Amino acid sequence: MPEGDTIHYAARRVRAVLVDREIRSIETPHPRHRMDNWPERLAGRGVRSVDAHGKHLFMRFEGDLTLHSHLRMTGKWGVTRRGERWGRARHRAWLVIATDDHEVVEFDGPVLELMTESRTRFDLRLAALGPDILAEEFDERDYLRRLREDDPTRGFGDAILDQRNLAGIGNLWKAEACFTAAVDPWKKTGRVSDEEALAVARAARTAMQPPARNGFRVKRQVYERGGLPCPRCGTLVKGRGQGDDNRTTWWCPGCQS
Ligand SMILES: [Zn+2]
Repeated sequence: MPEGDTIHYAARRVRAVLVDREIRSIETPHPRHRMDNWPERLAGRGVRSVDAHGKHLFMRFEGDLTLHSHLRMTGKWGVTRRGERWGRARHRAWLVIATDDHEVVEFDGPVLELMTESRTRFDLRLAALGPDILAEEFDERDYLRRLREDDPTRGFGDAILDQRNLAGIGNLWKAEACFTAAVDPWKKTGRVSDEEALAVARAARTAMQPPARNGFRVKRQVYERGGLPCPRCGTLVKGRGQGDDNRTTWWCPGCQS
């Protein structure tokens, strides 16, 4: 599932081939957008910037129009040279932007919307997002403030998955960062110290920065490794559903406290 590092990496690749390049065509093959007239609305406009915030990607066009995308579990951004094969079938493309040299394709939606810049600022989902774990300067104070305003009985692993506390972390980096910082994801948030909460966020940031730049994730320590020995202490790693969405958390009961 795409997490913040994947989206930042996508933004980087898309930015490199679209910003300040002449856009030759924009197509929206998916039936959901057939009536939206995006090709007409975006005709002749250049791409000013492409940015990620958490798991959201924003492509800003000239003339105050912004394309907002969220990939959820299924979506994907592809960047290919013109004429090169795409990684997914053509009928799965929701958006195709072509320059003379490249095609940028958004596959499998599911959130793709064109909005004015002011609407992106007032959109409740977007305005509520916590600080981006991969922002150039991560706002640690804002993260701690949001965490302390959240329900103190909530499991810490569940709380840091909440994009209103911290934007960009998904299930994989949640498990890995809690492990690296040796913090038990089941501990109630109110019992996690500021130092521990910061250690987890810093571990996530450090681990996510390389793949955000180059797309390669390193070997996992506990994620999807239930029943295997912990690389730190040898205790068997456990996996169990956590939070309202029952996302599986993996952790080592031996060395995470
Ligand atoms: Zn261990």
